[in-house]
Amino acid sequence: MSDRTDLEPADLLENNRRWAAGKLAADADYFNRLQHIQQPRYLWIGCSDSRVPANTIVGLRPGEIFVHRNIANVVPHSDLNALSVIQYAVEVLRVRHILVVGHYGCGGVKAALEGTDLGEIDNWLAHIKDVWREHYDAVMALPEAERADRLAELNVIAQVQNVARTSMVQKAWAEGRSLSVHGWIYSLADGRIRDLDVTIAGCTDLHAVFRIGSDCRD
Ligand SMILES: [Zn+2]
Repeated sequence: MSDRTDLEPADLLENNRRWAAGKLAADADYFNRLQHIQQPRYLWIGCSDSRVPANTIVGLRPGEIFVHRNIANVVPHSDLNALSVIQYAVEVLRVRHILVVGHYGCGGVKAALEGTDLGEIDNWLAHIKDVWREHYDAVMALPEAERADRLAELNVIAQVQNVARTSMVQKAWAEGRSLSVHGWIYSLADGRIRDLDVTIAGCTDLHAVFRIGSDCRD
């Protein structure tokens, strides 16, 4: 593979021109069709890390997955950006699955563990520190080299909970719609995604504290 680190923006535009031409050559109606239809079944909530591109690693084409990414795949309760994405995906696109996908070797998780002063971003990383604090003894009992990857898993599990606690997701359940929130983790080392088996598919999977509305009582 040639050295791609010195590509200029103009080279990217040229890549794009060739890509679009290739698509049209294979299917003259390709863009016309995509323009009018967006019916993804999935919402991906993942890390911004450049090595974890959503569509590519699950083999989906444009139009097939709605994507939200931020540093260390965090879904804070009052993050307008994440909440807007979830609302649009659930209520307008009517996705059936929300995939919270973390990854091993996550720089955001490592930075939270190291506690170095990084400026503004430390306020964002505090969400991961909340998870670390909650599982402090279990994480610190591990060999140092394993802590970041375990915290990356625990962070996914915590963010699955945060997604399921949103009013939009609970409203979908109250309406009797099928909507599952999954927790996955991707390995940069082998390219594989592992299911953490923490899927939440209904409000009774939530602690009573977080249930919204009278439709969700045991
Ligand atoms: Zn990351």
